[in-house]
Amino acid sequence: MTFAYTLAADPAAAIAEVSADPGAAFLAGGTTQLDLALKDGVDAPRRLVDISRLPLSGVRIGGGALWVGATTTMAQVAADASVGRLLPMVRDALLLGASPQLRNMATIGGNLLQRTRCRYFRDLAVEHCNKRMPGSGCGAVEGVARMHAILGASPSCIALHASDLAVPLTALGAIVHLRSARGPRAVPITELYHRPGETPDREHVLYHGELIAEVEIPLLPERARTTYLKVRDRASYEFALASAAVATVVEDGLVVSARIALGGVGTVPWRAWDAEDVLRDAPIGEATFRAAADAAVQQPFTVPGTEFKVELAKRTLVRALFQTSGATT
Ligand code: FAD
Ligand code: SF4
Repeated sequence: MTFAYTLAADPAAAIAEVSADPGAAFLAGGTTQLDLALKDGVDAPRRLVDISRLPLSGVRIGGGALWVGATTTMAQVAADASVGRLLPMVRDALLLGASPQLRNMATIGGNLLQRTRCRYFRDLAVEHCNKRMPGSGCGAVEGVARMHAILGASPSCIALHASDLAVPLTALGAIVHLRSARGPRAVPITELYHRPGETPDREHVLYHGELIAEVEIPLLPERARTTYLKVRDRASYEFALASAAVATVVEDGLVVSARIALGGVGTVPWRAWDAEDVLRDAPIGEATFRAAADAAVQQPFTVPGTEFKVELAKRTLVRALFQTSGATT
């Protein structure tokens, strides 16, 4: 495969170069871009603009939030002492993802924009994939599905959003700071991604050539307890079948506040607003947690290979709630 390669000198130059060419794309750590686009030939760009050495790396604290530069690697963020102390569920989601080698290369911006692992999407021999070829149908809905979504899915597409990191960021209400030729803007992560609907090829709200510069992660009250619980087919180097990022504040046996997002089950990282409402002011324990789990997994769209995920997602959330609340069974 032939493509042009540029090492960007600064963010403005990178944005200008990609914006000017519909066939251009950013290259960060390359762990998605190289295997999917250059090896498998899916969405292969003719020009790659390398942003990995731009001055967009680092972790800082300010204004009640932790700020992470887009080109900081997964490994660097996971090893940062302030991340481990203030937002351990972010660290844990990073360490439970991919492999050490991948985490050394992969960046935060690239992680949030990684493409789906749906095998039908990644195999150019498959003729039915609405995401790759709009209007062609969905091979996964009719075929073998397992690592697919049940929430936000539709007959048009059941592709999973596979990022672990995006799950705690969604629970915490992170804000993604973008830069483009049109100027800077800040987008809450809960509004960053499109559900597939009738247009699975439209995955997020970024313009062509728009760059993720930084991610702002609001800090939690000190008394909050958090967890990132990931359930998968093997103990390492595997994507989630279901996961839950939970932060709760509990006082005198009552839930004061809860922040919840589910992974491994959604076409987008899934904020469980209804479950949070169920938990507020409720007594900790199995009955409350089960009611919250039922509220979190409403109107799933399943195919035979993904039916098990309905109960799995609920049990994962219940277990995570036990972990953070200190309730005993
Ligand atoms: P790249 O591959 O360089 O880019 C990915 C996409 O994002 C491209 O479209 C690129 O143009 C765009 N992009 C990159 N940076 C920016 C930016 N700053 N602004 C705008 N666009 C940008 N992930 C998990 O969460 N959990 C797992 O368990 C997991 N397991 C994996 C196992 C394997 C074998 C592999 C290959 C990957 C796995 N991943 C997993 C995915 C991995 O985390 C991503 O591939 C990685 O985070 C992507 O980051 P990158 O810097 O390499 O992105
Ligand atoms: Fe394509 Fe989505 Fe169907 Fe996978 S689930 S084959 S990505 S349309």
